[in-house]
Amino acid sequence: MKIAANQVVALAYELSIMNDTDEWQMVETVGEDQPMYFIQGMSGLPESFEDKINGLAVGESFDFTLSPEEGYGDYDMEAVAELPIDIFKVDGEVQEDMLQVGNMIPMTNEDGHRLMGQVVEVNREFVLMDFNHPLAGRKMHFKGSVINVRPATAEELDHGHVHGEGGVEH
Ligand SMILES: [Zn+2]
Repeated sequence: MKIAANQVVALAYELSIMNDTDEWQMVETVGEDQPMYFIQGMSGLPESFEDKINGLAVGESFDFTLSPEEGYGDYDMEAVAELPIDIFKVDGEVQEDMLQVGNMIPMTNEDGHRLMGQVVEVNREFVLMDFNHPLAGRKMHFKGSVINVRPATAEELDHGHVHGEGGVEH
């Protein structure tokens, strides 16, 4: 079985990113015992990532680099915003646990879209939040192998995610 659209794919991989001093730095390891599962074509991963692994069979390996343009896009300075600390208050209290620098916080924008923001800085009046994808502006290197490929069920395609092993239980 080969990776194609609407197949459930399980991958083991190592992800390295090019850091600010132009050195490769490993940031994620997904082992063969606990692979990443997704539906090809609706993975939420960059399209270029899906293109690179398309057609690979179980047991085959991959080793490729994605530019920021092929990955999560360039880092956007305009996606960094100062928000009044009041919007983070619950019952008039600042949630200290939540507002730790580096924390990812789910938020809703003016259009009602949900997005994750990372706390960059906190002072008495404002919270500086970064809404860029954590891998925006990064060159990414993936190396790994295909652990399993199977056709997605009609229900999985309908829900847009994997059920059962490595997927959503509901
Ligand atoms: Zn579901």
